[in-house]
Amino acid sequence: MSYQLKTGPSVELPLLAVKTVRQQYQTSADLLWLLDEFRRMVNVCIMIGIEQKVSSLRTLSSRAYSRLSRDMLGYYRLGAIGAATVIIRNYRKAERRNARTKLPYAKRLVLTSCYGFKIDDNLLRLPVKPRKFVYLKLNSHTLKVLSGLNVRSVTLTPASLSISYSKETVEIEPEGYIGVDRILDNVTTATNKTVRTFDLSQATRIKSGYRYVKSRCKRNDERMRTRVFSKYGEKQRNRVQPLLHNVSKRIVDEAKTGRYGIVMERLTGMRRLYRRGNGQSRRYRAKMNSCSYGELQRQVEYKARWDGVKVIYVPARDTSKRCSICGYKTLESTQRRLWCPHCGAILDRDENAARNIAAGGLRFSPNLPPDEAMVEEREPENATLILKVDGGKLSQQPMVDNVNHLLKTNRT
Ligand SMILES: [Zn+2]
Repeated sequence: MSYQLKTGPSVELPLLAVKTVRQQYQTSADLLWLLDEFRRMVNVCIMIGIEQKVSSLRTLSSRAYSRLSRDMLGYYRLGAIGAATVIIRNYRKAERRNARTKLPYAKRLVLTSCYGFKIDDNLLRLPVKPRKFVYLKLNSHTLKVLSGLNVRSVTLTPASLSISYSKETVEIEPEGYIGVDRILDNVTTATNKTVRTFDLSQATRIKSGYRYVKSRCKRNDERMRTRVFSKYGEKQRNRVQPLLHNVSKRIVDEAKTGRYGIVMERLTGMRRLYRRGNGQSRRYRAKMNSCSYGELQRQVEYKARWDGVKVIYVPARDTSKRCSICGYKTLESTQRRLWCPHCGAILDRDENAARNIAAGGLRFSPNLPPDEAMVEEREPENATLILKVDGGKLSQQPMVDNVNHLLKTNRT
């Protein structure tokens, strides 16, 4: 069964999809010097921004640019101002919540540049100073990934180099929707034909293992603790990340082959559910908060964009409680099942939630797709809601773009 949303003449807006490839490399004294200088510039800009109470990129550029060393290339100076802007903005946000937030300071050695570098053969040429270059060897995997695509920027740390690349994609008009629900150990996806469950209990186990190890660390020295914790944090990421990548890839692949749009729940307030004083045990809260909700969504979102798959967010509203058939409030039954006193259906909890998300709050009829005409009417409403919540948030740009596109096409 397939149907088209009645959106008038289809407007094909090209979207820019971005991905990143990372590899290790042998750093050099010249590069370490550059990274260190870059960090120094970022900290100078942070100081200027905080002193003069500016946080916009443009104002900070005009105030800080001339105060940065002339020995540094112009685009590195601008890059440092850009990095400082982000840090200042995050600081202002944290400060609004907690007035005792420490003044920010860039600690990590990391440099991102969109300019000045060049890839020639299998070498990345990067200027350190005017007319002085370093050459970094790119491995065959990196070269294979980049072939034929536009390279956008390079990010360097002492250990690794990342290159982000892009292509233009056109969003495929979905012929149905796939809902993604994540609870602690599972990810459940549902379309009107299939339900799939991905087991992520291994990720939970890995994380609880590291939580235990970290809780044994009784060193009183703050610096030592930070070092130990960041080491375990990295180890944990290295083991959990591949599991998430596997799941997000399979979700996007299914959406692409089935011409589905992907619907996920907004996560605002997820942490608020599991906080001190909610009457939950400490262990339970730690376990629930360890869940990588956000990371999975981030992966699904950029992979979907790359493949032209539409991603829609719906507000988290009773998705796990309402009956996905009639919308009535269900009662808990045994073994993660729900019973609906209205239509008598017995539903799997996770499947029910995923179906609710897929329908964006619409009803499923038993073994039938959701009312198709209503899908169209419902989306713009959700979309406006999302727009309001997310207005001006940079990280959500792709979603806002989607929504704008949705609104535009629906008005015509
Ligand atoms: Zn029901």
